[in-house]
Formats: sequence, C-alpha cells, structure tokens
Amino acid sequence: MDNFAAYQATAYSVRDRLIDNWNSTQQYHSSKDPKRVYYLSLEFLIGRTLDNALLNLNVKPNYQKALTDVGFRLEDFIHEEVDAALGNGGLGRLAACFMDSLATLDYPAWGYGIRYTYGIFQQKIVDGYQTEYPDYWLTFGNPWEIERLDVTYEVNFRGYVEKYTDDEGVDRYTWEGGEKVVAVAYDYPIPGFGTKNCINIRLWSSKPKREFDFAQFNEGNYDKSVEEQKAAENITSVLYPNDNHLVGKVLRLKQQFFFVCATLQDVIRRFKKAARPWSEFPEQVAIQLNDTHPTLGIVELQRILVDEENLSWDEAWDIVTKTYSYTNHTVLPEALEKWSVPLIQDLLPRHMMIIFDINLFFLQEVEKKFPNDRDKLRRMSIIQEGNPQYVRMAHLAAIGSHKVNGVAELHSELVRTTIFSDFVEFYGAEKFTNVTNGVTPRRWLHQANPWLSDLITQKLGGTQWLKDLSQLSKIKAYATDAAFQKAWMETKHKNKVRLAEYIKQTLGISVNTEALFDVQCKRLHEYKRQFMNILGVIHRYERLKSLSAAERQKIVPHVVIFSGKAAPGYYIAKLIIKLINNVAEVINQDPEISPYLQLIFIPNYSVSIAEILIPASDISQHISTAGTEASGTSNMKFVLNGGLILGTVDGANIEIGEEVGDENIFFFGTLTPQVEDIRHEQMYRSLTLEPRLEKVVHSIQNNNYGDSIIFEPLLATLRTDYYLLSKDFGPYLDSMDKVDVAFKDRAGWAKKSITAAASMGKFSSDRSIQEYALRIWNAKPVTVE
Ligand SMILES: *Cc1c(COP(=O)(O)O)cnc(C)c1O
Repeated sequence: MDNFAAYQATAYSVRDRLIDNWNSTQQYHSSKDPKRVYYLSLEFLIGRTLDNALLNLNVKPNYQKALTDVGFRLEDFIHEEVDAALGNGGLGRLAACFMDSLATLDYPAWGYGIRYTYGIFQQKIVDGYQTEYPDYWLTFGNPWEIERLDVTYEVNFRGYVEKYTDDEGVDRYTWEGGEKVVAVAYDYPIPGFGTKNCINIRLWSSKPKREFDFAQFNEGNYDKSVEEQKAAENITSVLYPNDNHLVGKVLRLKQQFFFVCATLQDVIRRFKKAARPWSEFPEQVAIQLNDTHPTLGIVELQRILVDEENLSWDEAWDIVTKTYSYTNHTVLPEALEKWSVPLIQDLLPRHMMIIFDINLFFLQEVEKKFPNDRDKLRRMSIIQEGNPQYVRMAHLAAIGSHKVNGVAELHSELVRTTIFSDFVEFYGAEKFTNVTNGVTPRRWLHQANPWLSDLITQKLGGTQWLKDLSQLSKIKAYATDAAFQKAWMETKHKNKVRLAEYIKQTLGISVNTEALFDVQCKRLHEYKRQFMNILGVIHRYERLKSLSAAERQKIVPHVVIFSGKAAPGYYIAKLIIKLINNVAEVINQDPEISPYLQLIFIPNYSVSIAEILIPASDISQHISTAGTEASGTSNMKFVLNGGLILGTVDGANIEIGEEVGDENIFFFGTLTPQVEDIRHEQMYRSLTLEPRLEKVVHSIQNNNYGDSIIFEPLLATLRTDYYLLSKDFGPYLDSMDKVDVAFKDRAGWAKKSITAAASMGKFSSDRSIQEYALRIWNAKPVTVE
C-alpha cells in the first residue's frame, strides 16, 4: 500500500465516524426543531480535513497507534490530501472558521455553498511570473463529501412572467422558467471540538435535467441539445478568482441565483416539516449573507412567499427582513457588486420586477421621512441611474435585512459613515453593528502548531483553553519566566526549521533559521501594499551593500517571505509578483549579503501553506493603506502563534493593538481620517517621492533588478500614489528599524511574543459566533444527547 492508499483508508475510516455524529446530530435537531442558523457563502476556504477531524474528534493518538501497528506513520501521508480551496482569501476562510465555531459551540447551524469543480487556481512561478493552472481537486475522489442524489432541486432561468387576477381580484404573477437545471446536494460534515455536535456544509452542484429536449433532438439539433446539457454543468464549474474586485460576468450571476434558489428550497422544505404558519418563519430561521454574493436570496424568498405561497406583499416582506442579515466585507468602490438591469431582466425577469417594487416601496418611505430631497432618493435607490441602469447589491442587501454588520470596529464605523450614511439616518444606528472577525484556535493553533499547543496545554493543565480562548491570558504570568521563555522560543525555532525544510524542498534554497522571519502572505492587492514591502526590501539590500563587512555584523539578519495569488486579470498585482521574484534572484545570488538578507516567494499560497508559514513567523506585515482592509484575519493567526505585527492602524490591527498593548505591536503610517486629505493634496502637485523611495525607484529603473521596462506600469502607479506608499515609506522603514532593535533583545522579544499571544482571547471565532447568535440571529445552542 502506498502513501495515498494509506491516506484514503484512514480518511474513509474517519469519515465513518463523522457520518455517525452527523446522523445523530441531525436527528436530534429534527426532534427538537430549534431555530436554525443558515450561513450562506459563495466561498468556503476549508483546506485539508483529515488532521482537523482527528483532532476535533479527539482520536488522533488512537489513530497514530493503530497505524503504527500496521506499519504506517500518519505524518508520512497526511500531506497527500488536497486542499478544498473553494474560496479566494479571507472571506472564504472566515466562513470555514465560522463553521468550526458553530459546530464547537453546539449551534444548530448549516453552511450553504457551491461545490465548484475547480477551486481557486494553482499558482506556479515561471520565469518570475505567476502562471495559473486549473485546480481540478476531485480527480481522485473526495472522502469528505457525501453525494446526496436524494436531495435535488430544479433551478430555472429566463422564461417569462404571466400576470393573472386571483379569486379576490388581486393582481398576481407567475414565473415560468425557460432554462432548467438541477442542483444536487453534496454534504460536508463539520465536527465540533470536544462535542458530539457535527454540523453540515451543503454544497450544490449543477447537473442537466434528465429530461432532454427531445423536440430539439428530433429536429436534428443533436449538437445543440448536448451543448445545453453541458451549459447546465458549467454553472458550478469554476470559482471566480477575484478577491475584493467585481467582475460582472453572466455566469457569476447565474451561480449566485442557482445557489440561493436551491438553498431556499432546501430551507423551506425543512421549515415546512413542522407545519408551522409562515409568520413563524423568522423565529425558526436566521439567514446570514456572507457579503452581497447571495443577496438574490432576499428577492427569491419574497417571490416564493408572494407568487407561490400567496402571502400579501407586506406580510412577505416582514418575514424576509426579519430572516435575513448581511455582513459587509468592504467599502472599496471597485469591490461593491452591481449588476446591470438588462442582464437581470433577461436571466431573472420576475426577480427584476420584484427588485423594482422593493425599491419603489422603500423610496416611498424615504420620501415620507425626508420630503423633497431628490438627491437623497438618488443616492439611496437600489437602482443606479444611467444607461444601462445597475442594481446596487449592497443597497438591496441592507434594505432586505434587519441587521448589517462590518467585520472590525473601524470598518463598521466606515460602513456607517460612508457607503450607508443615508441608511443610518433613515433606519437609525441600531441596524448597523459590528462583529469583529475571529479565527478558530483549533486549526490555527492546535492543528497548525502542535508544539506550541502542547506547551500551552501543559502550562494550563488541560485543553479547556481551546474552547475558551480567554483562558490564554493566564500564560501572561510566565512572560518573564526564563524557563518558559526558552521553551516558548524553542517551539518558534522548530517551526522555523519546519518551514525552512519546506522551502528547501520546494525551491531548493536553504534559509538561515537564526534570522528574523519576516512574512507577508495574503492575496496580492495594491491596497495591501506588497509593493511597499518589496521596495523596502530593495532599500535594505542596497543599504547592506553600502556597509562594511564589520558593520553588517551588527544588522539583524532577515529572511523575508512573500506568498499570495494575484487575480489572473490583475495586471499590476502580477507585476508586483514579478518584481519580488526578480529582486529575490539578485539578493539570493549575492553571497556577500545572503547571510543578512534572503528573499523567498512561496508559490501557491493556500490554507495548507498558511499552516506551515504562520507558526514560523517572528514578524508579519499587515500594511494596508489605512481604511482599506476591512478586518484581516491572518493578522490574528500570526499573533496567536507568537508572531508580532508590523502594521498600519487599519482593520482588526487596531483591536489587536488594544489587546496586546502598544509595546507589543509595531504601528506606523497615516491614519484613516487623513487619507482622503492627502490624496486630495497629491492631486494638485506633481508628487516628489520620499528620498529613500526615490533612490529605490531609480535603482529599479537602472535595471538592477532585470530589464526595468516591464515594471514601468507598476512604477507609474507611484505618480498618483493612490495608496500612499510614498507618504508612509519613511515611517515604515523607521518602524522596521524598531523591530530590529527589539529583536536583538532576546528575552525582551520572548516577553513580547508570549504576552501578545496570551492577549488574543478576543480573536477566537467562537467569540464572533456568540455575538452573531446573541445580537443578530437570536439563536441558542442545542446540546446533542
Ligand atoms: C487567513 C487567510 C487569508 C486571509 O489573510 P489576510 O491577510 O487577512 O488577507 C487568506 N488566505 C488564506 C489561505 C488564509 O488562511
């Protein structure tokens, strides 16, 4: 038996246990019929399941022993598993962390999503450039999903709307779909940690209808009827690889409707089992929208209630708004979803009518409250006027929900004061709230960093802290204990060695594990400013070059590590990757400098790579222009693993700073309220770059890092400098110098690392979920017996 076969055998055995728990959980929930929480997300960035399931089920030692008895080692084949990578970045990973917390905290909750045939593309670096390969992750089957050929629904598109008058003389509408496809359910069991509760992520896959269009077939259009069958399967083929950026493709809109249509049929079927009146729907069902991607669910529920269940518009709308709530993930204009009216009209004619009606009734209320303010009506309308008109999905989501939340304090404040300021005035501030994101300590500490998890468990006398992360604060008492510091920093070193081995294997480069590991891994984006980081690396390299050998001895050695994917159509982001790789080529081949500085780009950033990378970092960079990163969650993962942050005053960095204390985080840069003013100033004078930045740019232009002509479009972005790299560059370098000074003091650094990690209790996704349950869903845990 080879490693892959050993993996499969183990996986199928663990799967059996999951299915047992899943069955008892679902039966128990059916018998109690509590209020259910449904988390709707077009993305679930799950990663691998085997190790996570073994740990959550608390059977890892048993499996290890049993495997040893038959001559196998779990560690030898655990990496055979391919990641379930059905997401782009933070948003999709958040959904996965939330599922772990919902299961662990015993909530009767389900996730709903799409079973993409191709997950996020695989990134390879060829000649320094990103190239994309399809992620056909299902080639060798997937032990973690259960195909449910018994759970299928029809989904319609296009067709026509018919108007009729009912027995009471009321105008009513029916929608007859033209294109029909079938949604098939695939269930993904999610075990809680230290509980029998095992919840479900139900992922939909599109299939052609079995009834083939025989009319067409008989007319001799065989090709055409096969094409149509294939088009049906296409709907769930591919995850759109854009992070924080809208690409308005028809197929994407089809995915969105396909998803909410199947999901609502499933949710309603479950609700109807108890034969309750429709008025009780919001007491039995809470639906959370993970960003605007599933917003059509609001319209589809209204359509079902009015057109199919014959409720009045107002009764239906009351139910809809009490059921839904919406999480906003960004205020960046280029990321806000809008779909053209003609496109929706063509694909979903009845839904477009309903959106216009929702908008009409809404604007009538606005008009009542704020008479004679046409500009306000224009600003608040769901419809953006123009040719063509557009549907603003964020407005629709906010109007159709009872709560709207941002994902960190600063971001929620920006939600209230920028994109939804008129809505706050209209609805009152209570509708707009904050739930700061979190990460699951089970995957991001216990699983990813077993050495540190064991050390903490030893110190705290058990694993209770993994279910109540606030208990971590008890290790602050040992922050200056020399023996504990030593043990703590030894785990860090082991993790650096583990990462160094991975780098050696994949890139053939040996990195210095005594150096400071300086990591920035996240999606490539101008607002995240990887460009500023690499410009800073060039500055460091050229400064090192100018020093004498003796002077270099005094410098803290750095291993700088980047990892992250750029959207395939994001030209500037891809150029940043190319620049990083060109600079790495120069630095790593300079034997004089390599002892002091190495630069690594790890290809194909993923959950599995994050699990190796994050525990090994001393410093990680979260350096977005203030006001642009909604929360960030990798910042939380790093600090939880004893890494410190070099970051801007943005997103959840701010709240992390509040928890760990100013001395345990390295903040720099422009603050959010100043950003707009600086952009305004920069528009009116030709920008002179910060001198050290100017020097670096010249060096690139002098072809020191390859032919500079290819970097012209990237360097040109510094002329308007929308993301304030020049403004922040000096403070950034100064802040990095402070990091180096702090790192030289080994005991001082250990104290910071311990104190910071011990202060991270707030950032468990368990806390986030408890806030949602209490303040948004009104849902309670159910202990499975
Ligand atoms: C946590 C995580 C992210 C989010 O990272 P940010 O730095 O918060 O943007 C993205 N991708 C993966 C694989 C992650 O694990």
